Amino acid sequence: MKKALICFLLLFITLSQAPESYATKTTSNEQTYQKRMELYTHMESITHIPWYYFAGIDQYERSVRRARRDIPKELGVLGIYIEPQRWIGSLNKDTSDTNPLTIELLGGIGRDGNGDGKALLTDDEDVIYTVAEYLQTYGVTKEHIEIGLWNYYQRSKAVDVVVENARMYQHFGRLDLEGSSFPVPLRSNYSYRSTWGDARGWGGRRIHEGTDIFADYGVPVRSTCYGVLEIMGWNKYGGWRIGIRDINNTYHYLAHLSGFAKGLKVGQIVEPGMLIGGVGSSGYGPPGTAGKFPPHLHYGMYKDNGLNEWSFDPYPRLRSWERQDRVKRQTKK
Ligand SMILES: [Zn+2]
Repeated sequence: MKKALICFLLLFITLSQAPESYATKTTSNEQTYQKRMELYTHMESITHIPWYYFAGIDQYERSVRRARRDIPKELGVLGIYIEPQRWIGSLNKDTSDTNPLTIELLGGIGRDGNGDGKALLTDDEDVIYTVAEYLQTYGVTKEHIEIGLWNYYQRSKAVDVVVENARMYQHFGRLDLEGSSFPVPLRSNYSYRSTWGDARGWGGRRIHEGTDIFADYGVPVRSTCYGVLEIMGWNKYGGWRIGIRDINNTYHYLAHLSGFAKGLKVGQIVEPGMLIGGVGSSGYGPPGTAGKFPPHLHYGMYKDNGLNEWSFDPYPRLRSWERQDRVKRQTKK
């Protein structure tokens, strides 16, 4: 009896709190997107660099920052991080320098973006203005912006991800690209369990870098996220496979497909639920090899922290996408 009462109380507390906290979170997310958009469009109006490049840079840096422990957490709404010494100048010995004149004189990139007389590394307006001014010196066409980005990051992958992000923001015309979808329809007959890190049954000594979703041959495979299709074609192990990089700079690898959706091509922008192929059993041999194992979708996820990329267990994400699809299905009824 006592136990039941506690359960009831817990349920009551959960129910009475959940809607409010959800609402608060949604509003604060909307406000954050709005503040970011204001900063990007303001920079576009002064530099003529399209807003979606600032959004692309900011989002790439946010993803890097969140994957690293050696970079402080962001204080404002922007994710852009500039190393202090780069900000104040390599010759500058005053590590707390905020004077725009001495910073510029000593080769620092830090600028005063809001006219308060200080170039502050922790001020969103100063940070975005600094990046904008840096890029503007290279020019404002697509090619020039890419050259500027290359000089800024000195890492081709960083440039690629920023440009992909920018294309996505331009395409959708908004900042909120956080939706999801489970890779196979819930009504299909499928099963999966957590197998990340297991020894691989086929093909080599590496651990199993993914979750296998077993389903019938030809069951539709959909994109789970907003992203750009980076890779599509045959791989000796993965068979017909697809690689998608999402807006959070996470790489999704889908393998052993029966084939690809009609018209799908590398560089294409995808969104949650979009058909990309079918469950198959391709792989482990030259192009066309199939049937060496039962049909399943191999789902792998990789994180990039600006320096290197590593595999992580997709199982918890798959569970959460599955749950969210179930909720969507119920609310539709
Ligand atoms: Zn697998």
